[in-house]
Amino acid sequence: MTELELIIDLHKNSVRQGPGSENDTLKALDFLNLQTSQNLKVADIGSGSGGQTILLAKNLNGHITAIDLFPEFLDELNEKSQKLGLTEKIDTLEKSMDNLSFKSEEFDLIWSEGAIYNIGFENGIKKWKDFLKVGGYLAVSEITWITQSRPNEIEEFWKSEYPEVDTAANKIKQLENNDYMLVGYFYLSQDSWIENYYKPMQARFEPFLKRHGNSELARKVVEDNQAEIDLYQKFKDYYSYGFYVARKNE
Ligand code: SAH
Repeated sequence: MTELELIIDLHKNSVRQGPGSENDTLKALDFLNLQTSQNLKVADIGSGSGGQTILLAKNLNGHITAIDLFPEFLDELNEKSQKLGLTEKIDTLEKSMDNLSFKSEEFDLIWSEGAIYNIGFENGIKKWKDFLKVGGYLAVSEITWITQSRPNEIEEFWKSEYPEVDTAANKIKQLENNDYMLVGYFYLSQDSWIENYYKPMQARFEPFLKRHGNSELARKVVEDNQAEIDLYQKFKDYYSYGFYVARKNE
């Protein structure tokens, strides 16, 4: 198995593939002013195995297209939606978020939790805007500095991992510069990282290593993830995922 295949395998059979929670998804949903009677068209980009997709399907009247690059996650989502009787409301699409071919103004809502960084925040909000109706909403979570300054160690780490890491003020400015109006912002609590993402991941380390015969590459994948967790534990007061909810202007 390649490293990428191992990373996917480590993240399989988990509720979420990134920090987040039911509460966070519902809190972001609360900022939208959508007619509940409306038959909404929704895209969930970088859906993973669909922790948030299922919640959206339960709480919105409409149809959701869940998009992800990796079929392993979409298969899981399809299984879940079958079990829950939600297949009429959820379709999956295996495609890169960088290369979507939806129609202009097709969607009432574009959702994306913990995924837009794959193509960069500014690139993503620009590219996806065309698919959104005027007055439609974008709800997106993105790694965000939550203080004005921070220790060098964490600043250097994030700048090399993801150069677009920035404060909410600057992310909001980017939204405004690209014809979006902010309707809500909050950042994820530490529980959304630790209880909902890191602890369940750590519980999968041992069975994962066993499955892969404790191979060198499998051990590397675990070590890399543990290093990310250690860094979060040390610097969690300085960054989180910001959740941005914005409306596409006239
Ligand atoms: N929204 C989910 C998953 C977040 S993890 C959650 O919050 O639990 C990021 C997701 O983006 C993964 O499922 C990964 O497979 C997907 N991804 C990575 N690169 C992608 C790309 N270029 N296009 C579409 N999806 C991508």
